[in-house]
Parts: sequence; C-alpha cells; structure tokens
Amino acid sequence: MGIWNAEYECMDREKLMKLQGERLRDTVRRVYDNVSYYRNKMEEKGVKPGDIKSVDELVKLPFTYKQDLRETYPYGFFAVPMDQVVRIHASTGTTGKRTVVGYTAMDIDTWAELIARCLTAAGADKTSFVHVAYGYGLFTGGLGVHYGAEKIGATVIPVSGGNTKRQIEIMKDFGSTILTCTPSYALYLAETMKEMGIDPRKDLHLKSGVFGAEPWTEEMRKEIEAQMGIMAIDIYGLSEIIGPGVAIECEYQDGMHIQEYHFIVEIIDPETEEPLPPGTDGELVFTCITKEALPLIRYRTRDICRLNDAKCKCGRTQIRMGKITGRSDDMLIIRGVNVYPSQIESVLLELGLASPYYQLVVDRVGTLDSLEVQVEMTPEMFSDQVRQIEKTEQKIRSSIESTLGLSCKVRLLEPKSIERSEGKAKRVIDKRVYSEKCSDINKK
Ligand code: ADP
Ligand code: ZN
Repeated sequence: MGIWNAEYECMDREKLMKLQGERLRDTVRRVYDNVSYYRNKMEEKGVKPGDIKSVDELVKLPFTYKQDLRETYPYGFFAVPMDQVVRIHASTGTTGKRTVVGYTAMDIDTWAELIARCLTAAGADKTSFVHVAYGYGLFTGGLGVHYGAEKIGATVIPVSGGNTKRQIEIMKDFGSTILTCTPSYALYLAETMKEMGIDPRKDLHLKSGVFGAEPWTEEMRKEIEAQMGIMAIDIYGLSEIIGPGVAIECEYQDGMHIQEYHFIVEIIDPETEEPLPPGTDGELVFTCITKEALPLIRYRTRDICRLNDAKCKCGRTQIRMGKITGRSDDMLIIRGVNVYPSQIESVLLELGLASPYYQLVVDRVGTLDSLEVQVEMTPEMFSDQVRQIEKTEQKIRSSIESTLGLSCKVRLLEPKSIERSEGKAKRVIDKRVYSEKCSDINKK
C-alpha cells in the first residue's frame, strides 16, 4: 500500500514534536483572542498564551467538554468570523443534542488531505472507484470522504446511505473498488448481497473497505472480511475535531495512525483527568493545531482506547490508537458491573452460533437491573427442523456470563427482526432511563 504524504506521515518524531509545539503556540494565541470560553478559562487558571511554548505545557490548558459546545450552541466556539466559514456540519447526536461544527476553506482543504492519506492507506489511488455509502448531509462521513477521494484523483461514486439493493447494483455496474460506510452497514450490505445471489468475490470488484463512525470489534472485522472478500480498514474521527480522517489503520491492521501534525493526542484517566502512558486504557483527548474555524483545545472525546507508540512496519511514525472499546457514554453499569456492547459483540461473534445482529436490552425490575441479549438466528438455523434454540441460548449465555461476570438472559430472534441501520447501529435499549424519567415525572 502506498503512503500519500510521507513528509508528514513518516516525519522524524523529534521534528514532529517541535512542529506540534509551534502550531500549538499559534493556536492557543488564536483561541485566547477569539473564543471567550478559552480566554475566560485560561484567565481562571492564570495561564497566558505566552506560557505555552511546547507540547509539554499542554497540560496547563483547560479541557473542552461536549457540554461546553452544547451550551454555546451553535457557533460559540468558532474562532473566525462567520464570513470565513464556508461549510457547516453537525455531529450525529448519538448521545444527545447534536453539536455544530464549521470549516474555513483551508479547513476543508486540510480535511481532504487527511482523507487522501486515509484512503491511500487502504489501497486507493487515482484508478480506484471510491463508493461512498456514508450519509451525505450534515453528517461528516459522506462529504468528508468525498473530497479526500477527489483529491487523490480517484473516481468518486457518491451514493450516500440507504437503498441497499441499489447500492449493490451500483457496485456491480460501476465497478466500485473501495467501499466506505459504517461497519454495521457493511455487514448489512454483505447480507443483502447473499440474498440477491451476488458473490462479492466473483461479481464485484471490491478490494477494501474503509469503515468507521462506530465501535466495531476484531471479530466483526473478520466477519466482514470473510463475507465480502475484502480488507477491512478502520477509520476514526469525530465531527468536533474535523470528521473522519483523524486516524487510520495501515495494511498491518494493528492500530490507527493518528494525524499528529494536525492533532495532539492525550490519553487520560476519565475520573482523575491525569494523563496516562501508552499501553493504558483511558479516554482520548485531542487538541487541534491546524484548524481555523473550530480549533478545540483538549477536547474530551469520551472514547476509550489505548495508544501504542511502538514503531510500525509500514514506515509511518505517527502514534497508533487501538480499537475504541466503547464510548464512556455507551458504558452500561448493570448491577455495578461495567459493560460495553463491544465485549458482548466479541463473545457472540467468536462463538459463531448465531448471526452478527444483536441488541442489548437493559431494564430494571424492582431495584434489580436485568440484561437481555437478543441475537438473531441465521437463516439456516431458522429453517433447521430440529431447532436447538434453547441449547444455543444457554451456550451463549454461559459464555457471556463467564466473560462479564454478570448473569443475563439470551434470546434468539427470528432472522431480520433487529432493525438494520444505514449509519450507526443502535446496540442498546436502556429501558431504565425511561423508567427513571417516568418516576421523576411521577414525583413532580
Ligand atoms: P456522535 O458523537 O453524535 O456520534 P459523530 O458523528 O461526530 O457524532 O461521531 C463521532 C463518534 O463516533 C466518535 O466520538 C466515536 O465515538 C465514534 N467513532 C468514530 N469512528 C470510530 C471508529 N473507527 N471506531 C469506534 N468508534 C468510532
Ligand atoms: Zn502502520
């Protein structure tokens, strides 16, 4: 696989740190002058822009929380006048009110450059047909990938999300070679191909997929790769930082290289807010150092993973982030045990006893939390006359229970009973939230 911009992607680390320091200094000056949130916070902490001279001094700066963006909705964090903003996007709003983000012409250019690097890492070049099944619109996925693919000179097929059969016909007729969408949608596409009698290895030209925007496990990767006969590459990003393209896996599929010339990364303990060393699980925090419209400082992503600073065989020198094990917002606390949907996904796919479509239903009966894992049967299981449903449910249950140390119920559902998503999959139905809200209402 090629490297789009070796000058930055393979930069000597000492030189990189120095450049990061310079960019950080400029950015801090800009946000102090233009964003009242940062000026106030820095004054509270007694920090002046001149105090920040290198990356080591980053810890003196205040954090930015999603809530801060919500409180200054929509444009309160913009560091340039609106006449310089050429594009608005918004986060999906997976965990609450959506946050609004803006780009100057230079930011759009930076973003395209980052995506060009990502797609190249996944094997794209100007002969590629990049099939964009991420949604176009306020969501950053569609247009984000689009501009990067054009920058490479690839042929973009801007399908956007939805209309799954049509997606597959287009892949076949137009010769898509690189598929970009969420991993859950990739799986749905694979399922639909099967139903349409299309063998992706024979009938399609797909070589790789660039999948992100939601957590997915190694087991899920194997599943997608096996079903489609492609290499599945993980891409990470979030609207607040720029959108997709903050980090990308290389062909070694062992962690995502973070675009460090543009973003300084930290991992912190989400409780104590203390920085943690590479190899330790914690919350990702990013500082934008080349953005114009929305240069966030120490943005708390709520995403949990670990960093790996070992040298990578691909030649890129940028530090790698491991797979996101979950968002701290997604973490369920069930009878005092912390549970991420991804843990259950791993168990389910490893067992291979049912389909990869699942959903977690959490409820509270009296004062006791309950967890029900609903998994779809495969069509083969369903048509099997001697259905060993109970036995399979028990096997899955005991495996989940021994992994999580938490008792649960497992229910096998008919194929297709869990809603397929065109974007981010909904893995959790937490009825406790609802019953708590109700009891609040009852109190009033
Ligand atoms: P929202 O936070 O409302 O979903 P975005 O559409 O900006 O808004 O999505 C960004 C979030 O998506 C990230 O913070 C992260 O939780 C998730 N995400 C993006 N890419 C990945 C990935 N490759 N693996 C896991 N999670 C991801
Ligand atoms: Zn690499």
